[in-house]
Amino acid sequence: MAERDETIEGEVVDEPLDPEREARRRLALAQIRQYPDAALKMKARPVEEFDDELRSLVERMKLLMVDAHGIGLAATQVGVLRRVFVFQLDEEQVAAVVNPEIVERSDETEVAAEGCLSIQGITVPVERSLHVVIEGADENGDAVRYELDDYEARCVQHETDHLDGVLMIDRTTPEARREALGVLRPRIVLT
Ligand SMILES: [Zn+2]
Repeated sequence: MAERDETIEGEVVDEPLDPEREARRRLALAQIRQYPDAALKMKARPVEEFDDELRSLVERMKLLMVDAHGIGLAATQVGVLRRVFVFQLDEEQVAAVVNPEIVERSDETEVAAEGCLSIQGITVPVERSLHVVIEGADENGDAVRYELDDYEARCVQHETDHLDGVLMIDRTTPEARREALGVLRPRIVLT
């Protein structure tokens, strides 16, 4: 996937965009809760009904994720406290995982720069398992199980954290956290 000038950082793809695409990205980001929005610190509740409301939420999240140039997006990031996220499963497919559980994670880990659609313009180093197995259901209630490596494994760990109100700045080193908050705080005062 890295044949072009792009870097995948957590749930964000960092890549130069043409003006039309960049405008669409900004519109999408405006609909995604931004740090320090209170919803980002809240724990989402399990989904009990696989109804049209859930399916339209998933549809909306998929569109927002693609427009925002992300590879993952959790419901808490659109202010909905339900346990569901979407992620880029492969080049063509964005998949939803409802009530996700990471059932296996490798002891082997990697520290890499991570970005977040809810904390724009910042990356922090986060240690994640290189390989995970995640289980849950799709938006129709059918069971799903994905064995994932590398950036996809990192992404679903990042998204599962979102559903528990945990952000990448809660997972980074104290120094990187301090530095990130130093950038974020003045921005909050100004906006
Ligand atoms: Zn995020």
